[in-house]
Amino acid sequence: MSTLRFHAIKEILNRKPIKIKESKRRSELFGNNVFNQKVMRQSLTKDAYNSVINAINNGSKIDRGIADQIASSMKDWALSKGVTHYTHWFQPLTGATAEKHDAFFETIDNDSAIEKFGGSQLVQQEPDASSFPNGGIRNTFEARGYTAWDPTSPAFIYGTTLCIPTVFVAYTGEALDYKTPLLRALQVVDQAATAVCKYFDKNVRKVNASLGWEQEYFLIDSGLVASRPDIVLTGRTLLGHSPAKGQQLDDHYFGSIPSRAMAYMRDLEKECMLLGIPVKTRHNEVAPNQFELAPIYSEANLAVDHNSLIMDVMDKVAARHNFKVLLHEKPFAGVNGSGKHNNWSLGTDTGINLLQPGKTPMSNLQFLTFFINTIKAVYENEALLRASIASASNDHRLGANEAPPAIISVFIGEQLTRVLEDLESVTKGKLSPKEKTDLKLNVVGKIPEILLDNTDRNRTSPFAFTGNKFEFRAVGSLANCANPMTVLNTIVAQQLLDFKGDVDELIDKKDMKKDDAIFNVLREYIKQSKNILFEGNGYGEAWQDEAKKRGLSNNKTTPEALKARISKEAISLFEGLGVMNTVEIEARYEIEIEEYAMRIQIEGRTIGDIARNHIIPTAVKYQNILIENVRGLKDIFGASYKKHAKEQLELIEEISKRIEAINSGVTKMTNERKQANTLSSAEKRAQAYCQKVIPFIEDIRYHCDKLELLIDDELWPLTKYRELLFTK
Ligand code: ADP
Ligand code: MG
Repeated sequence: MSTLRFHAIKEILNRKPIKIKESKRRSELFGNNVFNQKVMRQSLTKDAYNSVINAINNGSKIDRGIADQIASSMKDWALSKGVTHYTHWFQPLTGATAEKHDAFFETIDNDSAIEKFGGSQLVQQEPDASSFPNGGIRNTFEARGYTAWDPTSPAFIYGTTLCIPTVFVAYTGEALDYKTPLLRALQVVDQAATAVCKYFDKNVRKVNASLGWEQEYFLIDSGLVASRPDIVLTGRTLLGHSPAKGQQLDDHYFGSIPSRAMAYMRDLEKECMLLGIPVKTRHNEVAPNQFELAPIYSEANLAVDHNSLIMDVMDKVAARHNFKVLLHEKPFAGVNGSGKHNNWSLGTDTGINLLQPGKTPMSNLQFLTFFINTIKAVYENEALLRASIASASNDHRLGANEAPPAIISVFIGEQLTRVLEDLESVTKGKLSPKEKTDLKLNVVGKIPEILLDNTDRNRTSPFAFTGNKFEFRAVGSLANCANPMTVLNTIVAQQLLDFKGDVDELIDKKDMKKDDAIFNVLREYIKQSKNILFEGNGYGEAWQDEAKKRGLSNNKTTPEALKARISKEAISLFEGLGVMNTVEIEARYEIEIEEYAMRIQIEGRTIGDIARNHIIPTAVKYQNILIENVRGLKDIFGASYKKHAKEQLELIEEISKRIEAINSGVTKMTNERKQANTLSSAEKRAQAYCQKVIPFIEDIRYHCDKLELLIDDELWPLTKYRELLFTK
């Protein structure tokens, strides 16, 4: 091992876990830094409180006088906790969160000052945010953007700043962020689902989409990360040979958590408690130094905010522990990547989880209605759903031989498959009383029992039913969940509207009873969307062929996948429901495709630099040692030296070949990059980066990794995989 690497690791091994004091119970800490309903009840007048609750539940407007009152209470509460600044906290299309802090402090005259925060500052702000990606919507010189308070997600304190969750929109009305379309999608799914619920229960007045995300991540010592320019610049290793031991023994998964990582987790959990993020689960993941964190699920908008926030908090807390959190989907080749399973369901204001089988046949018919409609929505929009999780980094999971595949399919388990088969054979038209009784007793009535022992869980499925929710597993660890959640809730909303239309038509025109109509429509839906159901191995070659026969898309790369976002169908879907208009959709496409090209560009530049500045010089040094050795052997053995220097000569030759391959690879890649950059269409640029640049990045890596195996470990300048992955 090189002395430099050795000292770095020695220092890390001496690091002690930071002691985390937990003098209070978690339940006592929970939500302490959140201006939540409990605080509002205590601090607001009845009118103001009711006004906020009404805004949360029904989306009603909060008038100016009330906003002033709320702002004033918020300020007092924040000041009492040592807060000095406030910010409108939002999620621009960079994927990160954004904040611009202003002090409460204001001068009255030259001598005195006060702390001030009024309704106008709470409700609306105009950040000078002209540098955020906007896909051409907001030319800096014409339209401005503003942030507006989202009362459905409570304000919170982080550090000494009061953060107010907001939407970010152009003055012309277009969304410039992730939250706005999500809120619109949640509203349409609420309306559509509530209308369908009324078939079963007239008392339902609101349906909330729920989200429970599971965040996977790698935790690597910050000293080691600093030694790797690729991780610093791209969030992943661009080279590095797999260690002799990876994850094949499964000895990390669910194993005992290393003590420094444990201290980090406890510290993080404490922060989460204060912020009202109900984290509950923590464990080791499959790859070495890979972990997972999951909260109790909540309303989708809040859950999305929590996830955006936590990705930021994870980073900040990690710094205290000399760690760097890697959220990239594939930081290391050869071991598992990271995802962010999105567990999703719909729940009524009467407390019913619509994807949970119930106790009575009627409630199970409701369950089947939502279950089958979701399957159909996914079937009709599989390419769009795939597009919602497309990114340069997630391509390493979806497009490569890793879970889950790029093909979207739905796993429902053996028992529910049988239920659907039974339902598929119900009579067309009116059902006989006997058939109905039979169905209710033997099919619909049996669901809760059979689900109890429905233990088969297919880990290779990108979209799996897991007992009382669907789990969208293909979402990337780095993603903002708003994007997939916007698409999922929108497609389900559209599907439920169609369903209502179909059922009502049978009731009105065919004079059917409600139950008969529902059974009839569901039967047809099962027939139509069967092709999306898949219970087998999602990684297998056979599935790729089978999926093709079924007409399912298999878009392995982001440029290919993203096309579905701007398809005619997608535009009419989003426009029709008022979730996004054409301008917003095209802008997002533009931003995402642009970002893809930039990410690959950065990776290309980075590996080019490392190859030329680190790898080739090291290879030359080692080759010189070998040459020196051969010269020495020649001195000793004279003419017969070749017999003794055979291996060395071969090594010298191989190193030359690799150096040649690497150097010419970098030259060719640079040319391809330059070529790509001349293309004026962002789409073409992205395709060029995908098809022309990535193969060189992979090829350069291949040769560098081969050299890593040949070259004296003492000379190797980059921290190796075994050191990155196994130093705890
Ligand atoms: P796992 O998938 O790891 O076996 P669970 O099935 O218990 O674990 O749940 C995984 C996640 O699903 C948890 O984060 C939980 O909050 C979430 N979850 C459970 N029920 C729902 C629901 N109705 N809606 C959304 N998420 C849910
Ligand atoms: Mg899971």
